[in-house]
Amino acid sequence: MSLEEIKSRIAKAEIAAGREPGAVTLIAVSKVQPNERVAVVLEQGQRCFGENRVQEASGKWPDFMQQYDGVDLHLIGPLQTNKARQAMELCHAIHSVDRPKLAKTLARLAQELGHCPDLFIQVNTGEEEQKAGVMPDQADDFIAECRALDLPVKGLMCIPPAEEEPSLHFALLAKIAARNGLSGLSMGMSSDFETAIAQGATHVRVGSAIFGTRG
Ligand SMILES: *Cc1c(COP(=O)(O)O)cnc(C)c1O
Repeated sequence: MSLEEIKSRIAKAEIAAGREPGAVTLIAVSKVQPNERVAVVLEQGQRCFGENRVQEASGKWPDFMQQYDGVDLHLIGPLQTNKARQAMELCHAIHSVDRPKLAKTLARLAQELGHCPDLFIQVNTGEEEQKAGVMPDQADDFIAECRALDLPVKGLMCIPPAEEEPSLHFALLAKIAARNGLSGLSMGMSSDFETAIAQGATHVRVGSAIFGTRG
């Protein structure tokens, strides 16, 4: 599918949900894609991209940022504390804040660097053992803890379990965000971004539908 098609599907979903046009930010997830494919999408005007791993992102994005103005890079994968500085220097948003140790590290580095990317707190809505994210019943406390550290928390992020109906997870995430006064909702991927938009997503993370399957 082309970038244009995805953008028009997002626009239609915004209208269908009674959302403002442009309310949803498309994050083009470029992880594992060859640079030539990423360059094509940059040439088409896309500027917001998502990467899963700090190491991979720091290998390819500094060059692209030299070549293209206005790149907005989002880290959407798990973040180890020893990679936090690198992530904060490179990325404009981090979607995977999920534990106190990481929050404290980000707060300390924000002081030191004098800036901090926009932060999303990842919630493990499916309570899956192998998945990152704070458990739903601990989300309120963790959000409060991040705010007490003066971190710029913009919203919540989730990755629903693969075999489950995603809308239940999107609804849960939206509920936790609303009761905590958070407006950002990072939810929805290639297979379910329209459902996510219907439920209030502000950021959809779409990879394979734009770039093709990851080899
Ligand atoms: C890979 C990835 C995506 C994109 O998934 P697609 O199904 O290719 O759209 C979105 N979010 C996260 C956290 C990812 O790791």
